[in-house]
Amino acid sequence: MFNLVIFGAPGSGKGTQSQKLIDRYGLTHISTGDVLRAQIAAGTELGKIADSYISKGHLIPDDLMVDILAQEVDRLRPTSNGFIFDGFPRTIPQAEALKKMLEQRGEEVHSVIGLEVEDEELMERLVKRGIDSGRSDDNPETIGRRLKVYHDTTSPLREYYTNEGKYTPIHGSGHVDEIFSNIVNAIDNHPQLKA
Ligand code: AMP
Repeated sequence: MFNLVIFGAPGSGKGTQSQKLIDRYGLTHISTGDVLRAQIAAGTELGKIADSYISKGHLIPDDLMVDILAQEVDRLRPTSNGFIFDGFPRTIPQAEALKKMLEQRGEEVHSVIGLEVEDEELMERLVKRGIDSGRSDDNPETIGRRLKVYHDTTSPLREYYTNEGKYTPIHGSGHVDEIFSNIVNAIDNHPQLKA
């Protein structure tokens, strides 16, 4: 299995690039945001709890999020060649929990791709996405809070994964295909992909 974390601020293009990575490498996509939105749409208890955080631009508590992720991994693992983790981890405790959880299953994170985009451009993209998609958390006030949460709580993961020798920064503005080809160059020669 080849396990990749696609990392970056809200609006940095994680979802778009994940889709292209799935097509190229046949990996299984786990977007924690998508999992939570599906629960909200289905009106489950978990969805109600998730909505109370998401609509305010806050993070779901780590313990709950780690449980949800472990369930997804176990559900999808039997049919998977590896995962793209999109939107997870978002905190240092989540990264530590992911490491432990994968270790218990004889797995690890092999590479972390960080899509780096200026705040001003993120804000523009998210406001536009809010108009197109109708996502309740893509409004200017909530976007501002999500970007702050990213800088305060999530961005320290760059250093965490750099220290683990796994982080590759990718310039995330410009053409989608050009960004994708930079990602491919960064991971194509990973020995685990050829295993
Ligand atoms: P996303 O689609 O990844 O931008 O996620 C949308 C929202 O879902 C976030 O703003 C959080 O409220 C929640 N969320 C998604 N992933 C996580 C996570 N790993 N930890 C905590 N909250 C999350």
